[in-house]
Amino acid sequence: FFITIEGGEGSGKTSNSLLLKKYLESKGFKVLLTREPGGTVAAESIRKILLNPKSKLTPLSELFLYEAARAQHIEEIVRPALKSGAVVICDRFTDATVAYQGFARKLDLSLINKLNAAASGKLIPELTIYLDINPKTGLKKAKNLDKESYGVSGDRIEMESFEFHKNVRKGYLAQAKKYPKRIKVVKTDKDINKTWSAIKKEIDAKLK
Ligand code: C5P
Ligand code: MG
Repeated sequence: FFITIEGGEGSGKTSNSLLLKKYLESKGFKVLLTREPGGTVAAESIRKILLNPKSKLTPLSELFLYEAARAQHIEEIVRPALKSGAVVICDRFTDATVAYQGFARKLDLSLINKLNAAASGKLIPELTIYLDINPKTGLKKAKNLDKESYGVSGDRIEMESFEFHKNVRKGYLAQAKKYPKRIKVVKTDKDINKTWSAIKKEIDAKLK
Protein backbone atom coordinates (compact mmCIF):
# COMPACT_ATOMS: atom_id res chain seq x y z
CA PHE A 1 0.00 0.00 0.00
CA PHE A 2 1.55 3.26 -1.17
CA ILE A 3 0.41 6.58 0.35
CA THR A 4 1.78 9.99 -0.53
CA ILE A 5 1.45 13.22 1.43
CA GLU A 6 1.50 16.46 -0.50
CA GLY A 7 1.16 20.12 0.32
CA GLY A 8 2.66 23.57 0.04
CA GLU A 9 5.08 25.19 2.46
CA GLY A 10 4.00 25.03 6.10
CA SER A 11 1.09 22.70 5.39
CA GLY A 12 2.15 20.23 8.09
CA LYS A 13 3.25 17.33 5.89
CA THR A 14 6.02 16.30 8.24
CA SER A 15 4.06 16.22 11.49
CA ASN A 16 1.02 14.58 9.93
CA SER A 17 3.18 11.93 8.20
CA LEU A 18 4.55 11.02 11.62
CA LEU A 19 1.07 10.78 13.13
CA LEU A 20 0.00 8.63 10.20
CA LYS A 21 2.97 6.32 10.65
CA LYS A 22 2.19 5.81 14.34
CA TYR A 23 -1.48 5.27 13.61
CA LEU A 24 -0.83 2.58 10.99
CA GLU A 25 1.72 0.88 13.22
CA SER A 26 -0.82 0.77 16.03
CA LYS A 27 -3.05 -1.13 13.59
CA GLY A 28 -0.31 -3.71 13.09
CA PHE A 29 1.11 -2.54 9.77
CA LYS A 30 4.80 -2.47 9.02
CA VAL A 31 5.37 1.13 7.91
CA LEU A 32 8.13 2.88 6.04
CA LEU A 33 8.06 6.66 6.20
CA THR A 34 10.26 8.29 3.60
CA ARG A 35 10.54 11.55 1.68
CA GLU A 36 11.27 13.05 -1.68
CA PRO A 37 13.70 14.25 -2.70
CA GLY A 38 15.77 12.03 -0.47
CA GLY A 39 15.60 8.67 1.26
CA THR A 40 18.80 7.22 -0.21
CA VAL A 41 22.43 8.33 -0.10
CA ALA A 42 22.37 9.47 -3.74
CA ALA A 43 18.98 11.10 -3.46
CA GLU A 44 19.92 12.94 -0.25
CA SER A 45 22.98 14.33 -2.08
CA ILE A 46 20.73 15.46 -4.90
CA ARG A 47 18.43 17.06 -2.30
CA LYS A 48 21.35 19.16 -1.05
CA ILE A 49 22.00 20.47 -4.55
CA LEU A 50 18.29 21.21 -4.99
CA LEU A 51 17.91 23.10 -1.72
CA ASN A 52 21.10 25.15 -2.07
CA PRO A 53 20.25 28.59 -3.51
CA LYS A 54 23.86 28.85 -4.74
CA SER A 55 23.18 26.02 -7.21
CA LYS A 56 21.32 28.55 -9.40
CA LEU A 57 19.47 25.72 -11.10
CA THR A 58 17.58 26.32 -14.29
CA PRO A 59 13.99 25.00 -14.18
CA LEU A 60 14.89 22.15 -16.52
CA SER A 61 17.95 20.97 -14.61
CA GLU A 62 15.91 21.23 -11.42
CA LEU A 63 13.28 18.97 -12.98
CA PHE A 64 15.87 16.40 -14.05
CA LEU A 65 17.39 16.34 -10.56
CA TYR A 66 14.01 15.72 -8.95
CA GLU A 67 13.39 12.90 -11.40
CA ALA A 68 16.85 11.42 -10.85
CA ALA A 69 16.30 11.44 -7.10
CA ARG A 70 12.90 9.84 -7.65
CA ALA A 71 14.20 7.04 -9.88
CA GLN A 72 16.85 6.15 -7.30
CA HIS A 73 14.49 6.34 -4.35
CA ILE A 74 11.76 4.23 -5.97
CA GLU A 75 14.13 1.51 -7.12
CA GLU A 76 16.29 1.38 -3.99
CA ILE A 77 13.76 1.98 -1.21
CA VAL A 78 10.09 2.14 -2.16
CA ARG A 79 9.64 -0.92 -4.39
CA PRO A 80 11.51 -3.31 -2.09
CA ALA A 81 9.50 -2.05 0.91
CA LEU A 82 6.19 -2.49 -0.91
CA LYS A 83 7.31 -5.95 -2.02
CA SER A 84 8.05 -6.89 1.58
CA GLY A 85 4.47 -6.02 2.48
CA ALA A 86 5.08 -2.69 4.21
CA VAL A 87 2.89 0.36 3.89
CA VAL A 88 5.01 3.13 2.41
CA ILE A 89 4.25 6.74 3.28
CA CYS A 90 6.11 9.19 1.09
CA ASP A 91 6.37 12.89 1.93
CA ARG A 92 6.00 14.38 -1.61
CA PHE A 93 5.91 12.53 -4.91
CA THR A 94 4.93 13.04 -8.56
CA ASP A 95 2.11 15.51 -7.82
CA ALA A 96 4.71 17.86 -6.31
CA THR A 97 6.58 17.88 -9.62
CA VAL A 98 3.39 18.81 -11.46
CA ALA A 99 2.62 21.57 -8.93
CA TYR A 100 6.13 23.04 -8.47
CA GLN A 101 7.91 22.42 -11.78
CA GLY A 102 4.75 22.49 -13.91
CA PHE A 103 2.30 25.04 -12.54
CA ALA A 104 4.79 27.23 -10.68
CA ARG A 105 7.90 27.02 -12.91
CA LYS A 106 5.82 26.65 -16.06
CA LEU A 107 7.62 23.67 -17.56
CA ASP A 108 5.72 21.63 -20.12
CA LEU A 109 3.20 19.38 -18.36
CA SER A 110 3.35 16.59 -20.91
CA LEU A 111 7.13 16.40 -20.47
CA ILE A 112 6.66 16.30 -16.70
CA ASN A 113 4.07 13.54 -16.92
CA LYS A 114 6.38 11.47 -19.13
CA LEU A 115 9.35 11.92 -16.81
CA ASN A 116 7.21 11.20 -13.74
CA ALA A 117 6.04 7.94 -15.29
CA ALA A 118 9.56 6.97 -16.31
CA ALA A 119 11.21 7.83 -13.00
CA SER A 120 8.56 6.12 -10.91
CA GLY A 121 8.29 3.10 -13.20
CA LYS A 122 4.62 4.03 -13.44
CA LEU A 123 4.11 3.53 -9.73
CA ILE A 124 0.91 5.30 -8.71
CA PRO A 125 -0.07 5.86 -5.06
CA GLU A 126 -3.21 4.15 -3.83
CA LEU A 127 -3.94 7.26 -1.82
CA THR A 128 -2.63 10.82 -1.82
CA ILE A 129 -3.44 13.24 0.96
CA TYR A 130 -3.11 16.83 -0.19
CA LEU A 131 -2.87 19.19 2.77
CA ASP A 132 -4.38 22.38 1.48
CA ILE A 133 -3.27 25.59 3.14
CA ASN A 134 -3.66 29.22 2.17
CA PRO A 135 -0.13 30.18 1.01
CA LYS A 136 -0.18 33.29 3.20
CA THR A 137 -0.64 31.25 6.38
CA GLY A 138 1.63 28.47 5.13
CA LEU A 139 4.57 30.71 4.31
CA LYS A 140 4.41 32.37 7.70
CA LYS A 141 4.45 28.98 9.39
CA ALA A 142 7.24 27.65 7.20
CA LYS A 143 9.46 30.66 7.94
CA ASN A 144 8.99 30.16 11.67
CA LEU A 145 9.79 26.46 11.32
CA ASP A 146 12.98 27.25 9.44
CA LYS A 147 13.86 29.70 12.15
CA GLU A 148 13.50 26.96 14.74
CA SER A 149 15.54 24.44 12.75
CA TYR A 150 18.27 26.67 11.33
CA GLY A 151 18.19 29.77 13.52
CA VAL A 152 17.46 31.92 10.49
CA SER A 153 14.29 32.82 8.72
CA GLY A 154 14.30 30.68 5.58
CA ASP A 155 16.00 32.10 2.51
CA ARG A 156 14.92 29.02 0.64
CA ILE A 157 11.32 30.11 0.97
CA GLU A 158 11.82 33.81 0.47
CA MET A 159 13.53 33.07 -2.84
CA GLU A 160 10.15 32.48 -4.42
CA SER A 161 7.36 34.98 -4.83
CA PHE A 162 3.93 34.74 -3.29
CA GLU A 163 2.66 34.21 -6.85
CA PHE A 164 4.85 31.12 -7.12
CA HIS A 165 3.23 29.54 -4.07
CA LYS A 166 -0.25 30.45 -5.28
CA ASN A 167 0.55 28.59 -8.52
CA VAL A 168 1.80 25.60 -6.55
CA ARG A 169 -1.57 25.44 -4.84
CA LYS A 170 -3.39 25.81 -8.18
CA GLY A 171 -1.38 22.88 -9.48
CA TYR A 172 -2.23 20.65 -6.57
CA LEU A 173 -5.92 21.52 -6.76
CA ALA A 174 -5.92 20.83 -10.50
CA GLN A 175 -4.37 17.41 -9.87
CA ALA A 176 -6.97 16.71 -7.17
CA LYS A 177 -9.73 17.59 -9.60
CA LYS A 178 -8.22 15.34 -12.26
CA TYR A 179 -7.77 12.36 -9.91
CA PRO A 180 -10.55 12.68 -7.33
CA LYS A 181 -10.47 9.00 -6.39
CA ARG A 182 -6.77 9.00 -5.57
CA ILE A 183 -6.19 12.50 -4.21
CA LYS A 184 -8.07 13.59 -1.10
CA VAL A 185 -7.94 17.27 -0.25
CA VAL A 186 -7.66 17.93 3.48
CA LYS A 187 -8.02 21.53 4.54
CA THR A 188 -5.41 22.26 7.16
CA ASP A 189 -6.77 23.89 10.23
CA LYS A 190 -5.14 25.91 12.99
CA ASP A 191 -6.18 23.04 15.17
CA ILE A 192 -3.85 20.17 14.23
CA ASN A 193 -6.26 17.70 15.85
CA LYS A 194 -8.92 18.63 13.31
CA THR A 195 -6.52 18.19 10.41
CA TRP A 196 -5.38 14.85 11.73
CA SER A 197 -8.90 13.52 12.24
CA ALA A 198 -9.78 14.49 8.66
CA ILE A 199 -6.73 12.55 7.45
CA LYS A 200 -7.63 9.59 9.62
CA LYS A 201 -11.11 9.52 8.11
CA GLU A 202 -9.64 9.22 4.60
CA ILE A 203 -7.24 6.49 5.70
CA ASP A 204 -9.93 4.49 7.48
CA ALA A 205 -12.16 4.69 4.41
CA LYS A 206 -9.31 3.29 2.27
CA LEU A 207 -8.39 0.53 4.70
CA LYS A 208 -11.93 -0.80 4.88
O1 C5P B 1 9.09 18.73 1.40
P1 C5P B 1 9.93 19.89 1.80
O2 C5P B 1 9.10 21.06 2.26
O3 C5P B 1 11.03 19.55 2.73
O4 C5P B 1 10.60 20.33 0.42
C1 C5P B 1 11.74 21.10 0.38
C2 C5P B 1 11.63 22.22 -0.64
O5 C5P B 1 11.68 21.72 -1.97
C3 C5P B 1 10.39 23.02 -0.52
O6 C5P B 1 10.75 24.31 -0.13
C4 C5P B 1 9.76 23.03 -1.89
O7 C5P B 1 9.48 24.36 -2.23
C5 C5P B 1 10.82 22.47 -2.81
N1 C5P B 1 10.28 21.56 -3.84
C6 C5P B 1 10.23 21.97 -5.16
N2 C5P B 1 9.78 21.11 -6.12
C7 C5P B 1 9.36 19.86 -5.80
C8 C5P B 1 9.39 19.44 -4.46
C9 C5P B 1 9.87 20.32 -3.50
O8 C5P B 1 10.60 23.11 -5.47
N3 C5P B 1 8.95 19.04 -6.76
MG1 MG C 1 8.52 19.26 5.57
